[in-house]
Amino acid sequence: MGKSPSSAVRSLAVVVVATVVAGAMPVAAQLLPAEDTSLTLGRSRLLALENRPRTVTKGGGAETATTAISDAGLDEIQQVCSETQTEYPFSALVTDNFVLLHCGNDPWAASTGNHLERTYNRFYTTFKNAGFSLKRLEGRLTWICFDNTDDYYRYAWRSERRDVSALEGYYSAQTNRVALYETSPAPPAQAAPAPGTVVTASASEPLGAAPQLLDAARTTHEAAHQLAFNTGLQRRGVMYPFWLSEGLATAFEDDPADPSSSSEIAARRRRLLDARAVNTLIPVSEFSIMTRIPLDDMGRVYDGYAQAWGFYTFLFEKHRSELNHYVARLQSLAPGRRSPERMRREFTDSFGPVKPLEKQWVEYLDGLERVP
Ligand SMILES: [Zn+2]
Repeated sequence: MGKSPSSAVRSLAVVVVATVVAGAMPVAAQLLPAEDTSLTLGRSRLLALENRPRTVTKGGGAETATTAISDAGLDEIQQVCSETQTEYPFSALVTDNFVLLHCGNDPWAASTGNHLERTYNRFYTTFKNAGFSLKRLEGRLTWICFDNTDDYYRYAWRSERRDVSALEGYYSAQTNRVALYETSPAPPAQAAPAPGTVVTASASEPLGAAPQLLDAARTTHEAAHQLAFNTGLQRRGVMYPFWLSEGLATAFEDDPADPSSSSEIAARRRRLLDARAVNTLIPVSEFSIMTRIPLDDMGRVYDGYAQAWGFYTFLFEKHRSELNHYVARLQSLAPGRRSPERMRREFTDSFGPVKPLEKQWVEYLDGLERVP
């Protein structure tokens, strides 16, 4: 096809039309194993496609590729089709470390694929240089990109009973996928969240960016969540404090290869300093063990993300070995809920008593410059 803007996107544009006839599958089908008749039908269609040679372009020379789809998460494609339960054509873009199922917007997918590979490289470099041990990915990571909010909402509801009307995209520790919708150029008006809806530490969030920055920041943010849970930094099923999951993800929102994205971090920083100026930051004793943030007050949500960015960055810069210790300890925990008391003990075991740390945090904030 010759459209790949970078060598980071390999085996570009292997188009898979994976459809499941609308209404052909009962709701319970998502719980059935792959032997289910309708799934098998989908699989044989896909296998037929897989065996057909395709021509892709790498570095200007045409060659035949027949293996990309089997590498690229065939089961995932089937699973997603069964979960969406609609006649839904996905195209698959396969990069070194990701599979993007999308709705045929090839330029958008190629740009996102490149962005994901850049984030992957930056993620490994950042943590390896900082002394954290990361494992290699066990396979490509799946992204599902819808071209409209209705399909995106329906997918989230059917695959995991999640109302995502307040979220532009999210990483799910349950499915290990990122789901989002393409935005162009301005995001749609935000739907009012249902009362009591919460964002868990492993879900995603509204971003404070200008519309043109939304996709770049959102992509790196969700990729950081997904990579954290697939490189051993975090463990699926373990309960994490909000500051760690969201601070880590927000810290990747700026993309050095895309200078315009630095505005996202600048916005977080301004928000943090504004919250501090009016004394609305949450004390460290509370913030360090908070695992979720209510979505009923968007001002507080933005403040919470800004504080997570600041607090994580503070610990990464000033208490890196303690942070490494803390992350390793949480990674060794069994999945499930833990009491606030236990979480407080885990925190102080790694970082020491909260009072002196709070003092250092305040000093760190004093030294943060407001950027335009
Ligand atoms: Zn997030």
